[in-house]
Amino acid sequence: MQRSSFTESLADLKSRGVRLTPQRQMILRYLKETHEHPTAEQIFHQVSLEFSGISMATVYNTLHRLKELGVIRELSYGDMSSRYDGNDSEHAHLVCETCGKVVDVPCPPKATLESPELDAYGYAVGSYRLEFYGICPKCQAEEIAKGNPELN
Ligand SMILES: [Zn+2]
Ligand SMILES: [Zn+2]
Repeated sequence: MQRSSFTESLADLKSRGVRLTPQRQMILRYLKETHEHPTAEQIFHQVSLEFSGISMATVYNTLHRLKELGVIRELSYGDMSSRYDGNDSEHAHLVCETCGKVVDVPCPPKATLESPELDAYGYAVGSYRLEFYGICPKCQAEEIAKGNPELN
């Protein structure tokens, strides 16, 4: 499945009888257009630029609702803030353990992840979440620079 655009998602919601206020549309648009996997705070900051009166509560309520409607995903990472993902296609993530950056990468085909061992649990598996953890190139470069001050 291809990543659906803001316009497609909005049309989909409309056909399901869901109406979004301009503020909520703005949040959806931002998430559909960014590749950054922002936190709620980052979304709040971004949307505030256009709607100075928007509250953090509205942002949280909207994110909750959009998640319920299945047009965005919430990615939670233990003690880090949740990230929000407007990419509704099946994909995996590369996560930087230093700066928290999250990047979309293609998923291996579902068939390669299925196994008789998994079937033995008897679950009707609908989806899965695949994430690779490591250090992004920028953080690696910073580590090297820190370790070798003469390189600066
Ligand atoms: Zn990083
Ligand atoms: Zn993603």
